Amino acid sequence: MDFETIYQNPRSDDDRERILRDLRAEIGSGNVSSDIADRISSSHGFWMVAERWTVEGKVAALPDVIAWPQSTGDVAKVLRYANDNRIPIIPYGGGSGVVGGCVPRYGGISLDIKRMNKLIEVDEVNLRATVQAGMNGMSFEHELRRRGYTMGHSPQSICCSSVGGWVATNATGHFSTRYGGIEEMLLGLEAVLPTGRTVRGECSPRRSAGPEVYSLFIGSEGTLGVITEVTFKIFPEPEGRFLTSYTYDTIDDSLESVRAIMRRGLRPAVVRIYDKEETKRHFYDYPEAENRVMAVFVIEGEEKVADVEKDECEKICSEYGVCTGEGPVRHWFETRFNVSETSLAPQYGAVFDTIETSVCWSRAPQFYKNTIKAMHSIDGVILASGHASHFYPQGVCFYFTFGGVPPKNQTALEFYQKVWDAAVSSFLENGGHISHHHGIGINRSRWLSRERSSEMIILQKIKQTMDPNNIMNPGLITPLEEGAQ
Ligand SMILES: Cc1cc2nc3c(=O)[nH]c(=O)nc-3n(C[C@H](O)[C@H](O)[C@H](O)COP(=O)(O)OP(=O)(O)OC[C@H]3O[C@@H](n4cnc5c(N)ncnc54)[C@H](O)[C@@H]3O)c2cc1C
Repeated sequence: MDFETIYQNPRSDDDRERILRDLRAEIGSGNVSSDIADRISSSHGFWMVAERWTVEGKVAALPDVIAWPQSTGDVAKVLRYANDNRIPIIPYGGGSGVVGGCVPRYGGISLDIKRMNKLIEVDEVNLRATVQAGMNGMSFEHELRRRGYTMGHSPQSICCSSVGGWVATNATGHFSTRYGGIEEMLLGLEAVLPTGRTVRGECSPRRSAGPEVYSLFIGSEGTLGVITEVTFKIFPEPEGRFLTSYTYDTIDDSLESVRAIMRRGLRPAVVRIYDKEETKRHFYDYPEAENRVMAVFVIEGEEKVADVEKDECEKICSEYGVCTGEGPVRHWFETRFNVSETSLAPQYGAVFDTIETSVCWSRAPQFYKNTIKAMHSIDGVILASGHASHFYPQGVCFYFTFGGVPPKNQTALEFYQKVWDAAVSSFLENGGHISHHHGIGINRSRWLSRERSSEMIILQKIKQTMDPNNIMNPGLITPLEEGAQ
């Protein structure tokens, strides 16, 4: 097969054959593959840069082999083998990560945990569920709904991501304003360390017994070990659900109204504010939204309580905007998993991506405006827009979108990086964070030391202690030393 590989695999064909043979002996021949189709399919994830390479007939990076462990014991065998032989391990859940976390830049073993997909226990008395880390997110939510529960975690990628991947990336979902991000839902987990040792930690409902080791795996992006089981909080399915929407003259008014809601301790499950550009793109069927900022709200829970909560939210919103009823929210429900605009762009020579971040309330309006301006300042940018999608009493998550066509003297990658640089520099200069929920991966690594500054040394020490041979997703989060791997 004829294609260019961007990151070169340092191992030879003989090395690959040996790894294949050894892993077959460890976990069974049906659970390991070095077929080129399997290697290509675990080479890129959903990172836009890698998608672009695919459209151009290139492959980001090829792992040597794919292993599909069936149990925690299998994971331990693979890790022990890889550690003894200094072979990189790239944990792979749903492959929906958008920052390049699954790209096997140094080859090695892509450890795909999708076959570890059992629901272990739904504990209805204590409101928690334990599940193997490879279970698909939507399958897990279906299992809970069948029993009258929900996890309250509904990322746009729920159909193509795994529950372990959610923890590894510190994910959050559409309903986060009520139910929280994954860090608030996680009660404990089981993970396998690079030496093959299994660790387990749970803290339910709460404890004070030293630092929680399991929490190190939140946002670890496969660099410390493999998450094999997770225990999450669950909630009884909400009895009542109310929908409402408001339009505003300005983004400032919309943010002010939600800040007031959060400050009062009200917790709508979903709040999404679309700037004028995005309102035009998403709510073109609603004339009342023309040239306005649209906000959609979902309020749910115990019927009577949710009803009061909705009334209170509406009172606040009416001080700043105009009610546009349930229609726009129904439209949002119907279209919320549609991502065609992002995936169509590369085929037409356009470059398109989204960048999420968070910032405190006091800086939010100016932060939004400066970032839009910064993205527009890059030659070739046609579109720069944003929405706010996760809210806290302290601040807000903005989700920016850009699109454009690289100027003649620039490659698509150079153009892409210029827009990202402009946006992330604006985040840092305006008091925001470099990411709210997608993580670091390859894409954001160049800004991590600015974000974490004095903490970087601790992250390095943790990595050295837990993974002394640096086999776990090498180069991610803590950079590789020159010449390593
Ligand atoms: C269309 C679309 C919409 C999205 N919407 C959202 C959203 O609403 N909210 C959100 O937070 N994210 C969203 N994402 C990003 C992505 O879905 C999340 O980052 C998700 O949590 C990744 O899970 P995964 O199982 O696909 O992980 P993968 O992509 O397989 O892996 C991501 C990282 O985690 C590591 N990893 C995976 N599994 C394990 C494990 N068991 N143990 C240790 N490390 C592991 C990998 O090595 C990698 O570094 C979206 C992505 C797409 C493509």
